[in-house]
Formats: sequence, C-alpha cells, structure tokens
Amino acid sequence: MTTAPPSIPATIPAELTLPGGTTVTLALPAGDVTAEALLPALRALVDAYMASVKRTATEADQPVTCRAGCAACCRQYVPVSDVEARALASLVEAMPEPRRATIEARFAEARRRLDEADATEPMLATPRPVGEEALRLLNVYHRLDVACPFLEDEACSIYADRPLICREYVATSHPDLCDFRSKEGPTVIRVLRVSHALHLMTSDPADPVRIVFPLVLGPTWIERQTTEPERLTAETWMARFASALRHAIQTRYGDRAETMVEADASSWTTVFATKGFTPPR
Ligand code: SF4
Repeated sequence: MTTAPPSIPATIPAELTLPGGTTVTLALPAGDVTAEALLPALRALVDAYMASVKRTATEADQPVTCRAGCAACCRQYVPVSDVEARALASLVEAMPEPRRATIEARFAEARRRLDEADATEPMLATPRPVGEEALRLLNVYHRLDVACPFLEDEACSIYADRPLICREYVATSHPDLCDFRSKEGPTVIRVLRVSHALHLMTSDPADPVRIVFPLVLGPTWIERQTTEPERLTAETWMARFASALRHAIQTRYGDRAETMVEADASSWTTVFATKGFTPPR
C-alpha cells in the first residue's frame, strides 16, 4: 500500500487587523516565490484599507465621488515598479488575440509619443528625476494626454488586476475637477500610499530606492532587464514590505507628518509586527 505524499498548501492564510479595525485575511504563497506572487495578497490588503477609508469618508459626510465612467486619473502618470510591470506584461501575454495585439499597439503608441517628446529615457532613468525635473516630466506626460492602454469605454478593462496606486486615488470633489486642465484641481483623500512600499520592496533593504516609471513604459523597462527577479519566501517578502512601508512613511512625511499619518505609521507597524513579519525600525 502506498501512502499519498502530504499535500503542500498553495497558500498560507495570514490574518491582519488594519488600522481602524478592519480584518483581512491574506493568502500568502508557499515556497520561494518572486514578489509578483505576493500581488494578490497586497491587492487584498489595499482594498480592505481603502474600503475602510471610504467608509470613514462617508461617515464624515464627504463621500468618495469616483465612479465607473470617470477616468481622468487613467490619463495621468500612473507609477509602477518592476513587480507590477512584470505582472501586467504576463496579463497581456495571456490575453487572446486580437485583444492582446490591440493592447500591445496602445503601449507602442504611448511609447512613440513619449519618445517624440524626449521623455522616455528620463522617465526610465535610475535614480529617477526629482524636484523641478520630475515636475517637468509630469507636465510633459499630462500635456500628451496619454490614456492608459487598459482604458476602454472610460472604464478599466483589467479592474481586478489594476495596480495598487489605481486603488489608492480617491476624490471627494466633482469629477470635472480631476481633469488636469482644471485650475481648481480635485479634493483627494490623503491616504497612506501602501503602493510606495511595493515600489521599494525589491530594492536593497539596506538602501531602499523607489524605482518607478509610468505604466505605459512597462514593456520597455522589461525589455532592458538582464537579470531574473529574486525568489524569497512570502514571510521574507512581507518583512521587506513592512520595512519598506515604514521607510515610505518616514521619507514621505518626515517631521511634517499629519496626525492621521502618524497614527497610521505606528498602527501599521503593529499590524506587521504582530504577525512576526518584521520589527520595522
Ligand atoms: S490600470 Fe485601469 S485603473 Fe489603472 S490607469 Fe489603467 S485603466 Fe485606469
């Protein structure tokens, strides 16, 4: 009689209680994996956080006004890092024809327009431009009015797989104000950008660097890579993620941290520390 080998679970559940009390169960992949394999868990984390942000906004009588059919933010610079660029490339590769060819043609057209504006190389530079130059590039991008290749009929055609940053942008003002040509500009809820931690977590933990580029240049960035992505256990990735989140909070808000963000910083630290993923310092 043969004994069946014990089955190895494909995922490990990890329950986290987020700041504000929302509980979310993340399905962490088993074994050594690339950071891309953590994306479903990180999306669930951001979705749970944003749901609680929206609930709080509604209770404060400032409901979120973002709706299907309102896609001004899909014509803005959408920063992604290596992890999401690879995930989106895999998604496009798996699409049936002619959809795949349509999406690839949109990426190519966006690249052509950025090339024409001499914006491709500075946008892919490491370290990424900061200050005046970063602002100039943002303005170039917005002037070109480049729509995201996944935008169809003013809606996201990859909604479940959209990047973390697309989940974090929420406005409470009239949708017209989100148009970058609007002088007034939108009122957005200032949330903790969990996506920034994703952008940092594949760099050297001793010297974290946020390497991002516009979503539309993802295929160009991938073409230029010569090394395979790192493989680690989910627990190690989550420790890196927690540490990167801490770094993102400190770097972005520094001493000028608002009360809400300071509260977030300490409570987010606890969220991960209680799971043993890290003691971020
Ligand atoms: S991925 Fe979807 S939500 Fe994000 S910019 Fe593109 S169309 Fe918009």
